Amino acid sequence: MTLQVIQIPSEKMDSNSYLIEEGGHVIIVDGSSFEGILEAVREHGWTVDYLVLTHEHFDHIWFLEQLREELSMPVIACSLCSERIRDVKANLSNISDVLYYFKTGIVREGKSPSFTCRAADITFEDSCEMDWQGHHLRMQRLPGHSPASTVVWLDESHVFSGDYLILEEKEITRLKGGSTEDYEAIARPVLERIPEGTCICPGHGPMYEKGQQDE
Ligand SMILES: [Zn+2]
Repeated sequence: MTLQVIQIPSEKMDSNSYLIEEGGHVIIVDGSSFEGILEAVREHGWTVDYLVLTHEHFDHIWFLEQLREELSMPVIACSLCSERIRDVKANLSNISDVLYYFKTGIVREGKSPSFTCRAADITFEDSCEMDWQGHHLRMQRLPGHSPASTVVWLDESHVFSGDYLILEEKEITRLKGGSTEDYEAIARPVLERIPEGTCICPGHGPMYEKGQQDE
């Protein structure tokens, strides 16, 4: 088996999508990039089986609908995420320029219109597991950063952590829908138990090995 995990940076913001590839089959994690994802998929002639969402925020779903149009793969998300991507207030796209400014200090030229996405094609409540191309995927909703925040395990080797476990950044729970209580009670204990040496693939910043940041 020749598993590859490829980080694809967004053309629009500092968020990452990922391609998980095995045997010419691909799972996309988050829809924050369009050209980068399409180029990689087309260059290699890969088949996209699924797109999985880590959470509902605009910077992770910018290009979700375009990707669906081009690649027509089923989208997997927890039911709350599926609901919230359809709501401009819940996906925060109604204030994306303000959030972009707070994060980067840059005033974006023109206004980014708020947007919604269609419901996910496959939904689950709090967790879901599946076998894929000889690998095992496990998705678990871990509210805190947002109500629908979900972390995806690929075997025991990789964790797609969305807006958790971003290198050198404290977890953000202050955005609308975020909850420090949920983070402390639900998300944090699970995230802390991820073993050292696991490859963390966050929604922002570089991939790294857990434990590496303490060296
Ligand atoms: Zn987020």
